[in-house]
Amino acid sequence: MEQLTQDYLRTKKLPHIWCPGCGNGIVTAALVRAIERTGYDQSEVVIVSGIGCSSRAAGYLNFNTLHTTHGRALAFATGLKMARPELKLFVIMGDGDCSAIGGNHFIHAARRNIDLNAVIINNHIYGMTGGQHSPLTPTGMKATTAPGGTLERAFDLLELARGAGATFGARGNAAQPRQLEQLILRAANHKGFSVLEALSPCPIAYGRRNKLGGAVEMLREMKDSAVSMEKASGMEPEELEGKTLSGVIFSTEAPEFSEEYYRSIGKA
Ligand code: SF4
Repeated sequence: MEQLTQDYLRTKKLPHIWCPGCGNGIVTAALVRAIERTGYDQSEVVIVSGIGCSSRAAGYLNFNTLHTTHGRALAFATGLKMARPELKLFVIMGDGDCSAIGGNHFIHAARRNIDLNAVIINNHIYGMTGGQHSPLTPTGMKATTAPGGTLERAFDLLELARGAGATFGARGNAAQPRQLEQLILRAANHKGFSVLEALSPCPIAYGRRNKLGGAVEMLREMKDSAVSMEKASGMEPEELEGKTLSGVIFSTEAPEFSEEYYRSIGKA
């Protein structure tokens, strides 16, 4: 681990800004381990992020990095992938970043099936700006913008991605970091637009307001409510209520956009 830290973190940028108990560090560590296992050289890897607590990860990671604007990480990443298709791009976004202001970029990246690896750290809230609800905040949960509990229904991000044309979708959580690492690796090895939803605790802006306990309680609940796809296939719908499917949710194949583009102009 010490070696991974030296190799893949910009140690001069530490300490990080994340609150004690935040899941962002766990997800970032799983991402680093997964990238190491892909065998890519650091110079071939690009980390693109938007704005928000989780997007600060790009500043700490010792790869080529782009810390872009709120909601636009996928747009920047698409441009880079089209210009340099040989690069391996991981796009870190928060739930609000990806599914609210960035929602349009998200569905069109999925529709194109461009070879980007989206890593969405879903803590169900806008943490950095003070706890506003996002499109992934579960109905009834409180936020500064929903003091009586949000009335909106949350997106199922992976179903949204699948419906828009993404070819790989997986869900893991910060309470099961080894499984998360494995899922990120599988997403990275998939050709086309892959979506990895990483559930992650925000004990400060979300947990405290909703009386979910501290980081330990939130992680325990995350682990207890996760059900693998294999196990879920043998369960009744009533048994799955309140549970969260984890693992590879879908995986299929379709033409990849950057390859198709270069083929279409005779430069494949
Ligand atoms: S506000 Fe929440 S998401 Fe942001 S650093 Fe703190 S615990 Fe993490």
